[in-house]
Parts: sequence; structure tokens; C-alpha cells
Amino acid sequence: MTTIRYKRKRGREEAPVKVCPSCYVYNMAAVRMCHDCGHEFPRVTKAARQEGEAALKRWTEAEMERQADREMLAALEVVAAEGVE
Ligand SMILES: [Zn+2]
Repeated sequence: MTTIRYKRKRGREEAPVKVCPSCYVYNMAAVRMCHDCGHEFPRVTKAARQEGEAALKRWTEAEMERQADREMLAALEVVAAEGVE
């Protein structure tokens, strides 16, 4: 059996609430729907957020590599052109 312990951050006890973007009523952070107007809160889990950040990081790195490739190809073209002359 594995026991997962959740550490409580001391001195930073924020009320677990969120504001409905539709009617601006305070709701418990855990609820999925506004208790007042029934607005559904988008479910953004920590895992989903981390996956999104990881995907963005991968994309950025791939884009930087592509950019580097283009610069290298451009440099090779210059070198080749100089060699031809
Ligand atoms: Zn609401």
C-alpha cells in the first residue's frame, strides 16, 4: 500500500475558493459548477497544465532547432557560393 501525504503550507492558508466568471459569486474551489448560476468551471488539472507547459517547451526547442538548421543551411550556401566563385 502506498500512502500519499499532502503537505500543508504553513502560514499561507488561502481560502479554497474561486470566483464564478459568469456571476462573480464565490464558490468552493473543489466544485465543478457555480452553485448560483450553474456555470461550469473549466477543469484544468495540475497534470494537464504540466503537460501543456512540457508541450510548449518541446515545441520551442524544436522551433529553435529548425531555426538553427536554417541558419546553418544559409551559412553553407554562402560558403558554397564563395567556393564556386
Ligand atoms: Zn455563477
